[in-house]
Amino acid sequence: MQTSLPNWLMQRAFLTPERIAVYDEQAAKTFAELHESAAKKARQLANAGVRKGDIIAVFMKNSVAMIEFIHALHYLGAIVLLQNTRLTSYELAWQLKDSEAACVIADDELADRMGEDVRVITVSELSALPEADAEFQQYYHFDDVATIMYTSGTTGKPKGVLQTYGNHWWSAIGSALNLGLHENDCWLAAVPFFHISGLSIMMRSVIYGMSMYVMHAFDAKKANELIIAGKVTMMSVVSAMLQKMISDLGERRYPETFRCMLLGGGPAPTPLLEACKAKGIPVYQTYGMTETSSQIVTLAPEYSLTKLGSAGKPLFPAQLRIEKEDGQAARPYEPGEIVVKGPNVTKGYLRRPDATEEAIRDGWFYTGDIGYIDEDGFLYVLDRRSDLIISGGENVYPAEIEAVLLSHEAVEEAGVTGIDDETWGQVPCAFVKLKSGYSATAEQLKQFCQERLAKYKIPKQIYFVEQLPRNASQKLLRRQLKQLIPTNSLGGTSSS
Ligand code: ATP
Ligand code: MG
Repeated sequence: MQTSLPNWLMQRAFLTPERIAVYDEQAAKTFAELHESAAKKARQLANAGVRKGDIIAVFMKNSVAMIEFIHALHYLGAIVLLQNTRLTSYELAWQLKDSEAACVIADDELADRMGEDVRVITVSELSALPEADAEFQQYYHFDDVATIMYTSGTTGKPKGVLQTYGNHWWSAIGSALNLGLHENDCWLAAVPFFHISGLSIMMRSVIYGMSMYVMHAFDAKKANELIIAGKVTMMSVVSAMLQKMISDLGERRYPETFRCMLLGGGPAPTPLLEACKAKGIPVYQTYGMTETSSQIVTLAPEYSLTKLGSAGKPLFPAQLRIEKEDGQAARPYEPGEIVVKGPNVTKGYLRRPDATEEAIRDGWFYTGDIGYIDEDGFLYVLDRRSDLIISGGENVYPAEIEAVLLSHEAVEEAGVTGIDDETWGQVPCAFVKLKSGYSATAEQLKQFCQERLAKYKIPKQIYFVEQLPRNASQKLLRRQLKQLIPTNSLGGTSSS
């Protein structure tokens, strides 16, 4: 028999009604108030025709209202499709068609991004609707799909990742068993709710009875102020966000009340980790993905210094192994595909049995990422298999070269990708954004790399750019880097 738990927000509002559920710049809401608002929205959504089992897209920027809509849709037993606000109309329409979503709930100012033939209900239209009678889901069944998020589709068409209530539950529990729960915790949500990093904060909040602080858009200065004022105790970031926060922080330090900077979403450059260590920032590297409903591997507190650079060990409910191309288990330090298992791992992709079968074999999920495990079982993530550069038969990991470039004092951001080369098949090519007020030539950066990297890893070309392509969660889009190569480039090295 499948596990079912009482409706999460209703249970929370019953158990700890007075506790603050969510803050933003304007106001605070208790769990009782959050429930009241969600229930009202659910009755309005019922009036708009939302029914149990419908897939309803939410196209909103982070806000308290967005949290209420997600809960409201779950009250009605609807499945929430979270759409990335940076997508084009074409991409959005594709997802809606693929998922057969019944309608889209959109922020007023985003509504016109949706195509003509899509049923869009804006937030203000909904709030004007009368409330209809609605039957709320009293229980959440662990096998039921709660949310869907599309992958960006690097290898073919985007795929809708199914996240069940059980996935979210176990993700929250696994995180708590590692990071602990403190009475005064307040988690800063500056990452979007349409990504699992953001949505999982909302899930932890309702499951733990923990406050969260919603930031409408990431702002490094404001985030630092909130931490320094002791208003938040934990935060989820990707490295580009943390980099900005450290620059803004200057000589200031975070108070003891701040206990966790959860850093994931991509490779964590060692210089960044070292800068955090020097400032006493409690960084927890983590590895996870949409398909694992957030973290699956996180560095436990006591190893944050001795295993610097590692993403850690699996969370308590999860398992991990490294598989070589021939299907054999890798030995310590031997790179291979990261394969994971656990109750937080997706049951598959929406209506894509082929892709599901390819990704999940014998109950293990093949992540498409490459990494290795040290002799103590700590995971080191190297890179995505699809970003791997094979140069003259050697494996070159873009993340390693980026980390070296980032350790140069003049470099603010770096991205590396492979370009075709007659002799070597492929060679690494770097794109660098310099810090304002600093200068460096391509030759100087190459020299810097030569002192730190094997010859075949030295970028053959280095281009200076104003901006690197990043997605809505600030992740580097390596596949788009090549588009930054100037068309008049003669293949030589450009300098600043
Ligand atoms: P898509 O699958 O559509 O290409 P995505 O994989 O970037 O998108 P997410 O699920 O948000 O979308 O990101 C998970 C990926 O991020 C992981 O598979 C891995 O490649 C990368 N990643 C996450 N954590 C780390 C980490 N600690 N170190 C290195 N890479 C990481
Ligand atoms: Mg992915």
